Amino acid sequence: MLRAHRDAVSPFVLGQVKHFINQQGAKVDSYNAAAILEHAMLEFDLLQTDPATLETGYAGSYARSGMLSLNHGRVSTPVFMPVGTYGTVKGVLPSSLDDMGAQIILGNTFHLWMRPGQEVMQSFGGLHGFERWDKPMLTDSGGFQVWSLGAMRKITEAGVHFSSPVNGDKLFMSPEVSMQIQTTLNADIAMQLDECTPYLSIEAKTKGQITTEREARNSMEMSLRWASRSRAEFERLENPNALFGIVQGGMFEALRQESLEALVAMNFPGYAVGGVSVGEPKDEMLHIMSHTPHRLPSHKPRYLMGVGTPEDLVQGVADGVDMFDCVMPTRNARNGTLFTRFGDLKIRNARHKADHGPLDATCTCYACKGLTRPDGSTSGSFSRAYLHHLDRCGEMLGPMLASIHNLHYYLNLMREVRAALADGTFGAFRARFKAGRAQGV
Ligand SMILES: [Zn+2]
Repeated sequence: MLRAHRDAVSPFVLGQVKHFINQQGAKVDSYNAAAILEHAMLEFDLLQTDPATLETGYAGSYARSGMLSLNHGRVSTPVFMPVGTYGTVKGVLPSSLDDMGAQIILGNTFHLWMRPGQEVMQSFGGLHGFERWDKPMLTDSGGFQVWSLGAMRKITEAGVHFSSPVNGDKLFMSPEVSMQIQTTLNADIAMQLDECTPYLSIEAKTKGQITTEREARNSMEMSLRWASRSRAEFERLENPNALFGIVQGGMFEALRQESLEALVAMNFPGYAVGGVSVGEPKDEMLHIMSHTPHRLPSHKPRYLMGVGTPEDLVQGVADGVDMFDCVMPTRNARNGTLFTRFGDLKIRNARHKADHGPLDATCTCYACKGLTRPDGSTSGSFSRAYLHHLDRCGEMLGPMLASIHNLHYYLNLMREVRAALADGTFGAFRARFKAGRAQGV
């Protein structure tokens, strides 16, 4: 199977593809090239599943582990992807991300379009060269940020007209524009432009009302048309990476089913479940999580967008999800909330003021374990008292250490999930995880 060369630019890859097709004696045209590229830039191998066992009475789940091969390397799934909105995971050095085992990170198309803009990004050959990250990367479509502008934007079939939140310029985002920007960013995985169907309307006329089935249908159907336009433009641009389709349909099972069937018919190399974690009650989110992911093709990666807490991630894995992203570990770190194996900890709480203990004695992150030198000696852990003090004084190091700890916790949680799936002990892992989180810190 032809594999795109690492760091290859699209004309080079296309040349390889045409050469390959010529060797096969097939007709060379852009459709053929695109069809071959679909296989060249993403491979997904399913490794383990979580079957029921009759002897123990274990019911099993839709959980699975796999290996995702992308243009910039391989990714073991299930995986959590730290979010690097402006081309940086806030407050965390790329070397720290490397140390904690981050395999793939996100970039936000909308924010990077606003600043530094396409021209600067183009001059660096894309986001990898600009932010100095040489492992896989995923960019969102920019749709969610444009939608979030509320009164500052107008959505039509053609696309979204809006005023730049940076300088007020009149701008236009469409499936074609999103694909053009994402092609410049050159991440391993790009996302179709979709319309995020909200749970509660943010439009002036209907503000605060729950989205009706009719509204959710109109929105979902437009997202399908935008999926088709995204794909056509992605192929026209000869983007050498992988494009994912996004299932929408609000909180309505029948619409979700329709959306996923139409997207599967378009044969994307991977699929996302969008429009969850958009203000809906938790039980509605869990309902969609239990409905949609496992109905997507089993031989392709499944990505649940923007979710969530550690509990949501473990549940998502059980529902058949392979990929997650969320700003929660970094955002909560900046607000003084730390995730640990034994529950969540508020570092601002006065009870930590003189506490010499680490955040979590079982955590091996830099904040909890300190530095291990080549001779084996260690600098020792940072205390809760010190982290409390940094937060009280508004010192930069506070949120930096908190972000390292929280991201490490999320990445390690997924490592433990993968190990449990490899051992066939995911059921026992879930019970242990739940008991640990309820213990308290
Ligand atoms: Zn830690």
